[in-house]
Amino acid sequence: MNKAPITVNAIINGEKIQTDKKITRENPTHPDQIVGYAPNNTREETIQAIDAAYEAFKTWAWSDVEDRIARMQRAIQKLKYATPEIAELLSREHGKALYDAQGEIAVSLMWMEFAVENVKKVTAPEDRKHETGRTIITHDPIGVVSAITPWNYPISLSTIKIAPALLTGNTMVLKPSPFAPLAVSRVAEIIADEFPAGVLNLVNGDAEVGIELTSNPKVAKIAFTGGTNTAKHIMKAASETIKKMTLELGGNDAAIVLNDFDVNDERALRRMVIANFLTAGQICMIAKRVYVHRSIYDAFVEKYIEAANKWIKVGDPFNPDVTVGPVNNKNQVEYVKSLVEDAKNKGAKIIPLGTILNPELMDNGYFLQPTLVLGADVHDRVVVEEQFGPTVPILPYDDEEQVIQLHNESIYGLTSSVWGEEEHAIKVARRIEAGTTMINTAAIQGLDVRFPFGGVKQSGVGREYGLDGIKSYTETHVINLPNDLELPYIPE
Ligand code: NAD
Repeated sequence: MNKAPITVNAIINGEKIQTDKKITRENPTHPDQIVGYAPNNTREETIQAIDAAYEAFKTWAWSDVEDRIARMQRAIQKLKYATPEIAELLSREHGKALYDAQGEIAVSLMWMEFAVENVKKVTAPEDRKHETGRTIITHDPIGVVSAITPWNYPISLSTIKIAPALLTGNTMVLKPSPFAPLAVSRVAEIIADEFPAGVLNLVNGDAEVGIELTSNPKVAKIAFTGGTNTAKHIMKAASETIKKMTLELGGNDAAIVLNDFDVNDERALRRMVIANFLTAGQICMIAKRVYVHRSIYDAFVEKYIEAANKWIKVGDPFNPDVTVGPVNNKNQVEYVKSLVEDAKNKGAKIIPLGTILNPELMDNGYFLQPTLVLGADVHDRVVVEEQFGPTVPILPYDDEEQVIQLHNESIYGLTSSVWGEEEHAIKVARRIEAGTTMINTAAIQGLDVRFPFGGVKQSGVGREYGLDGIKSYTETHVINLPNDLELPYIPE
């Protein structure tokens, strides 16, 4: 679908800003077509946005929570109304199939509504009288939040931060990824329009803007989703002024298939395929390596291939039969290819999966035929690195201790899944080092915005979603009024 390119704005202190230097976003399905332009903001403009957020915080922090809720509710209504237009834009700039783009917005709205419904519960002050006096505990906003987001789920990973931050009285500067800046900029504009100037600011750009956002002394908290290596730079930049931090990082999520998994359960196999290939595999929490008990390995692989060939239909994101679109960008295509090539050169068997519905697009677009990698070594790059693309290795294991160890020796621990008889699977799940472990499902299918989400080890710090995801935008303040001001152990 070709359309005239659009141009989105930066938003600084309520003003819609255009710049001479622009980020050009091409369509991954037709890379010769430009979807639109975003401002390529400078460090100076980023400082202006931070200053605006800093000034706005002084009054926004003390605003009435009912007023914040009403504003967010209006933004939600406007986003609902704009969903078809935004989903179409997201699909064109990102490459994800239209149903997938619509799903991303639906999950974003679900979360925003949850945050609206629960902000008072999380921030309600406690006022306790007790035997030694009285204590008031409040949950106050932190200050200016820098929100930095990746390209794979640009809208949900931005609204996951915007909604709780603004509802709890913080102000924000949002910086999306240059690989998908357009649809999320539209979303940010719709939300910002409902709030006072300076409460939600938006800048675009890459590392230079990111460095300012993570080192500027006026920024109190960083909410970052992206790669683990980028997070290491961010932690260093933020250490100078000890900023609060929520980091949602990479994962190398494993699916562990137990010996009592029913290989004839077609619905479970379909869920597994979706958990491997939704959004062309470009999800932090996709199942990126599958370990299958050797006793059922051959039967599992045969049934898995059948299920994958049924579900995976590659082509134009606007073709309603397509389930898997192109990869978002050329670097990612080359990276995934290099992992598959590496495994192949070391003797692994590469099995193409699914049907190509639009063969005419394959050569020019950023497409990769989804693949299954069989016979890889547990230490091959395709197994230990985060592929973030449409390929998955399936490996046999002999006993549960071995597979738990293989799972846990990863530097990552975002999500994971165990497949088999429920109680057996729960027993194994308890041993897994991850922020979330799903039973007989995986990835987005098992995500619930009502419960906390985040990683252990190098997959992250802190939690988003759930009540924890709201609370993480607050600081606890204790106001103490003891009855007896003199402590017994202090000499007269
Ligand atoms: P990335 O780390 O390259 O970029 C993320 C953001 O950081 C972008 O906006 C980028 O412009 C910005 N950035 C780059 N250098 C910076 C710097 N020095 N300082 C501050 N900001 C900087 O990640 P990506 O390629 O956009 O996204 C893919 C990665 O994100 C994968 O590793 C994936 O697993 C991870 N991810 C994690 C989650 C989660 O919830 N845990 C969700 C989605 C994606």
